[in-house]
Amino acid sequence: MAPTEIPPPLPGKKRRIGVMTSGGDAPGMNGAVRAVVRMSIAQNCEAYVILEGYEGLVQGGDMIKEMGWEDVRGFLSEGGTLIGTARCKSFMERPGRLAAAKNMVLKGIDALIICGGDGSLTGADKFRGEWPGLVAELVEKGELTAEQVEPFKHLNIVGLVGSIDNDLSMTDATIGCYSSLGRICESVDYIDATAFSHQRAFVIEVMGRHCGWLALMAGVSTGADFVFIPENPPSDDWEKEMCHIIKQHRDMGKRKTIVIVAEGAIDRNLNKITPSMVKDLLTNQLGLDTRITTLGHVQRGGTACAYDRMLSTLQGAEAVKAVLEATPETPSPVICMIENKIVRRPLLEAVKQTHEVAEAIGAKDFDRAMSLRDAEFAEYYQAYNITTSSDQPKLRLPENQRIRVGIIHVGAPAGGMNAATRAAVAYCLARGHTPVAIHNGFPGLQRHHDEGAIKEISWLDAESWASKGGSEIGTNRGLPSTDLETTAMCFAKYNIQALFLVGGFEAFTAVSELRKAREHYNSFKIPMVILPATVSNNVPGTEYSIGSDTCLNSLIQYCDACRQSASASRRRVFIIETQGGASGYIASIAGLSIGALAVYTPEEGINIKMLDRDIDHLRETFARDKGQGRAGKIILRNEKASKTYTTEIIANMIREEAKGRFEARVGVPGHFQQGTTPSPMDRVRATRFGVKSLQHIEQFIGKSKDEIAADPMSAAVIGIKGAKVLFSPMEQVESKETDWKDRRPKDEFWMDLKSIINTLSGRPQAPKGEGA
Ligand code: ADP
Repeated sequence: MAPTEIPPPLPGKKRRIGVMTSGGDAPGMNGAVRAVVRMSIAQNCEAYVILEGYEGLVQGGDMIKEMGWEDVRGFLSEGGTLIGTARCKSFMERPGRLAAAKNMVLKGIDALIICGGDGSLTGADKFRGEWPGLVAELVEKGELTAEQVEPFKHLNIVGLVGSIDNDLSMTDATIGCYSSLGRICESVDYIDATAFSHQRAFVIEVMGRHCGWLALMAGVSTGADFVFIPENPPSDDWEKEMCHIIKQHRDMGKRKTIVIVAEGAIDRNLNKITPSMVKDLLTNQLGLDTRITTLGHVQRGGTACAYDRMLSTLQGAEAVKAVLEATPETPSPVICMIENKIVRRPLLEAVKQTHEVAEAIGAKDFDRAMSLRDAEFAEYYQAYNITTSSDQPKLRLPENQRIRVGIIHVGAPAGGMNAATRAAVAYCLARGHTPVAIHNGFPGLQRHHDEGAIKEISWLDAESWASKGGSEIGTNRGLPSTDLETTAMCFAKYNIQALFLVGGFEAFTAVSELRKAREHYNSFKIPMVILPATVSNNVPGTEYSIGSDTCLNSLIQYCDACRQSASASRRRVFIIETQGGASGYIASIAGLSIGALAVYTPEEGINIKMLDRDIDHLRETFARDKGQGRAGKIILRNEKASKTYTTEIIANMIREEAKGRFEARVGVPGHFQQGTTPSPMDRVRATRFGVKSLQHIEQFIGKSKDEIAADPMSAAVIGIKGAKVLFSPMEQVESKETDWKDRRPKDEFWMDLKSIINTLSGRPQAPKGEGA
């Protein structure tokens, strides 16, 4: 990002940008502060933090503090907010805001980036609206002179949403919500194990007063039996409905019961539904040994997950850009995320829409409350309902529209594969289709005479797969082309009428082979969808593969541990080798999430000048380090970044050049990167995309084989592209979007993020003309 030419408000002085965290704390807020501070400095501005939220603004003085580059070192891996947050009563009143305006002018700050919830953002916009009046009043009262306020005619406000509830409209995710969801899922997974052992029922209360995002997503990720959310209360006879569903699950052989209740859960008459009401029902009506667990503040704490670190970093950088591009006429923006795209939305409208949800709930207009949440929310709600209940007569298709759907895993295991399969199975059963597992990939199918290679999956088989890592039906890298003849014969023999593939680049290749082989084999003229699942995130047709988020979380955990291990000895740099094949995605995003000093990717390669610059940079960084950055430094190198400069060689070069002033260590996390339990993001997206994939397949029911083969959408990849989730025809993706040699997409969206990674780590760039 080139520095933007904006004149500073004070002649001869740099522009000053303030940043604060306000309202409830959320994991990731520190990442936002770090990004704002460093990006401001990189843009030739001065960065200030306001301590303790609006309280610091009202009090002024030392509560408004300039921050240097080094002051935010290590912020990414710290939980909570290091600059403090508070609820400030005096800012709610005009005199408080008058004091705040005076302090800002005195400090020379005319732009404020606020990371907080809807309350904090409302306050910020009010402050901006009143600003000219506040400044005039300060002059009138003689507290400031006309000359002093002259350069501060306008106040720039940019909002960043930091909230664990994910309650702001117009954004899919708020900073902190996925970390909080991670904590909830971890707890539910633990509880799940004990519930299973004792055949118990647990009622778990999670945060969310007007917003059921955490409760719903926890339900989707853990396969909970019932979920209560404020936006969509259950039917009037919910007691009967819940008991019926849970009894059914128990009758089918389920040993445990999990019910998730959002803090703000209500019935359709706005009466509160409490965990103890649910417990009494389960105990008295169903005779279950039931316990209540209230997760409480555990949900707020801890370090941020990889996604929140990335989100807060990218949004912090975008906020600075928004400040620099703002004019007095621009409405205050809030930085949002739609699927995979960072966008700016009018702050006031986002806040207004958020308040409307609460109003709609208050007016019992629940359809409206649901419609005011983003489209993603409604889809998750639908996916949850379909995948949780085994008996849904309303969804069942007529007999002649039911099909046999083959489900196959291809390639290495990735987090979320089982969740996707569970969703597909549940969807099939709800609709009356027959889900058939093809065990151990294409080689499994080709060895069809093995007993059990192809098996129908029951609801109970798949029921516990929501949170399981690995591949329950077995996965294999083998391709159909090894034996097309037998593969085709098996498709016909087992009457596979549609195929749902979950896997990475091999799965993608498999669909391509099957599609091309349709010419010779009629049994391949069936609808096929691939759901990309690989830690490498290198499948063309999507910007996100399930499993990649789990991998990033493992990787940052590994990096955090390495870095911390150096805190006693100091002056240590770790060269960590990541997976990813020929795609530098994992290395780059992990680099962004931990603040790596440098990231080496296959796309860019490694050359001697680059190493030279990076070693110089290391030397300078260690020389500057006066003890504030007690932990080690990290360089990430993708496994295929260079044939010559291996991880060990780079470490040796650094050792040689360091001349004893610092040391280098190598770390190879290897298969650790595949993670254990899949991350909630991988689980929920797997579920949502699994259901969507089956819905896509259903469009071809009743069509002839030739009609299917003639339709490019009959072999498709489901994925996220920018702000959309969509199906792309295989024919187009394989011919136009795929770099077959390097097994990755031709255009990798994250390449645009490289400059932000480098800017925020202060990495020196190649002089113009030298290339990377
Ligand atoms: P959150 O930002 O998490 O929604 P709050 O609603 O508690 O949290 O708001 C945090 C702080 O923002 C409040 O303590 C107050 O200082 C300020 N604030 C909230 N709403 C307003 C408002 N309408 N006008 C002025 N300031 C507000």
